[in-house]
Amino acid sequence: MSHQSGESGGPRCLVVMYHYVHDQETLPRPGLPSIPPGIPGLTSRDFRVQIDRLCALMEPIDWPTLYAWMCGRGSIPERCFMLTFDDGLADHAETVLPILRERGLRGVFFVPGVILISHRLLPAHELHLLLALLDERTLEQELLSYLAQHKGDDTDWMASVDPAAAQAMYYYEPPGRARLKYLLTMRLPPDLRLEAVDALFERHVGASARWAPHWYLSWDDLAKMESLGHTVGGHGYRHEPYSRMTPAQHREDVRRTAAVLRGGLGPDIRPFSYPYGQCDEESCAACREAGFAHAFTTERRWVTRGSDVFRLPRVDTIDVEAVLEKEVSCPQS
Ligand SMILES: [Zn+2]
Repeated sequence: MSHQSGESGGPRCLVVMYHYVHDQETLPRPGLPSIPPGIPGLTSRDFRVQIDRLCALMEPIDWPTLYAWMCGRGSIPERCFMLTFDDGLADHAETVLPILRERGLRGVFFVPGVILISHRLLPAHELHLLLALLDERTLEQELLSYLAQHKGDDTDWMASVDPAAAQAMYYYEPPGRARLKYLLTMRLPPDLRLEAVDALFERHVGASARWAPHWYLSWDDLAKMESLGHTVGGHGYRHEPYSRMTPAQHREDVRRTAAVLRGGLGPDIRPFSYPYGQCDEESCAACREAGFAHAFTTERRWVTRGSDVFRLPRVDTIDVEAVLEKEVSCPQS
């Protein structure tokens, strides 16, 4: 990938997003019931392969370097990349940190505030464990019968799901899973989702509170990350899509995220990543007011000097190859 400066429109940074990075033999964690394979994510081998490929093509940068450059101070290489990790998963301390250390890389770890306070699994992660145990059709039937029996709710929830919207949001999932995830995340009222998924989790897996300390990073992990030069950022407080909140709830969620991180780690300037990548004018304003310096979406593009600092693009690990191929074949796009 050779680029003449000017021809390519200036330096740009590919910000890559990861969630789970683990090997099956590291799951389940000590003291927890066994679960079959099926938790999504990269193996440590595939993670190494991808970051080695990125390192072969471009130079790595850390968040302070990106931040300074976007503030008009300092520079970044003509083509560079930055690694980010969402959801505060224990994988990031167990599997990711040693690999970054081997290569001298620094990442950004985006943590939902509630996991540091409530010691429960987020519904999104309970669902991943449930889907590792049950097929989606069984789970969907159990969910709907729970709502009918316990809530007296006879809404035809599946009819409320637009299959095209579900597939657009969960483009990496087969249609049945995409529809179930969309129903839970975008259609069911958040409190009802929390209650129903908790009940199914308890029935099939066990007490959520028992899993949480093994599933998520601790304050000690986060302090260690910062001492090693990594960045810890916010990922919402409740980890709900902002499109489902009122403006007031939305601002409160961002403000609480900032307060939790400030209280536990100190007053540093931090970046934010929107839960489910969803943001609007309200989200951008909420992040600015809460003192976050940058906020990342899941828009599949490169960060350039002109990018809006509260709508910075970011590319999922599964889309990295497609973005790199486009860059080689069409460098000015
Ligand atoms: Zn997330």
